[in-house]
Amino acid sequence: MATVAVIGSIMTDLITYLDRMPERGETIAAPSFAMGHGGKGANQATAAARLGSEVVMVAKVGTDSFGEQTLANFRANGIDTTDVTVTEGPSGVAPIFVEPDGSNRVVIVPGANESLTPADVEGARERIAGAAIIVLQLEIPLPTVYAAIELGAELGVPVLLNPAPANAELDFDQVARCAFFAPNESELALLTGMPVETLEEIEAAAQTLLAKGVREVLVTLGERGVLRCTADGVEHIAGITVQAADSTGAGDAFIGAFAHRYAADGDIGGAIEFANRYAADSVTRRGTQSSFATAEEFAG
Ligand code: ATP
Repeated sequence: MATVAVIGSIMTDLITYLDRMPERGETIAAPSFAMGHGGKGANQATAAARLGSEVVMVAKVGTDSFGEQTLANFRANGIDTTDVTVTEGPSGVAPIFVEPDGSNRVVIVPGANESLTPADVEGARERIAGAAIIVLQLEIPLPTVYAAIELGAELGVPVLLNPAPANAELDFDQVARCAFFAPNESELALLTGMPVETLEEIEAAAQTLLAKGVREVLVTLGERGVLRCTADGVEHIAGITVQAADSTGAGDAFIGAFAHRYAADGDIGGAIEFANRYAADSVTRRGTQSSFATAEEFAG
């Protein structure tokens, strides 16, 4: 079984469903509340593990019950937690407020994620060396992301960088060392300063990244699918038509599934097609990690 190494964030989603947002200074009762496992790194690791990859997770949790529950969730999904370390203080949390029309307000409190350092990446060197792909996002400090890119280059392990959330300070000399760069449309817009309404505009924006040395740009387009841009040309992989229930986490489902399939045989086109179908399937169910199918469920 191929190994996927995910170096990234862990959050606990704290979701309050309200009739309306309270005014400043006001206290109101809300009808319901739910907790969920989240964080882009944890989500992507979970998707790959559910599909059957060996997954090594390099991350930090705090000294609270959220951290304990996260570790239990990783174990339940078969994720190797050797490199998920505990640091004094709170775990990362995401208080989310959802109003009856479905609109939401999200606050990210990074907590322990801020403490993931280049030394933590180095500490996981042995396990990362055995991986077929390294997967990164931007919910951890940039120096840690760059250390992971450096280690990937040194070990000859291809790196996929999902620039989420977009960070205008991202160093494209580092990005150019990655095998894959996978933004969604809004991240592409923020990183290039270009419009991304039409496929032509998206392609033009992606071309500017190729000009900066990025090798393979995979732009996820929601229901429109994926645009793959390399020096060899551009390919639009159309979206799969589904009855959409909740697209939260679709981007993470795509990245986790791509990493799983690419790790298995190195076929990039096959991995994009597989991930496009897997992410579309996740959109048919509510929730984030809870919408990610296992290999058996997805095949069946
Ligand atoms: P999120 O932030 O909600 O996790 P994202 O903006 O990072 O998502 P998207 O580009 O919206 O990512 O979606 C990722 C992939 O999921 C798409 O490339 C596509 O394969 C699939 N997908 C998303 N929404 C739909 C949909 N409505 N129908 C079919 N496939 C979808």
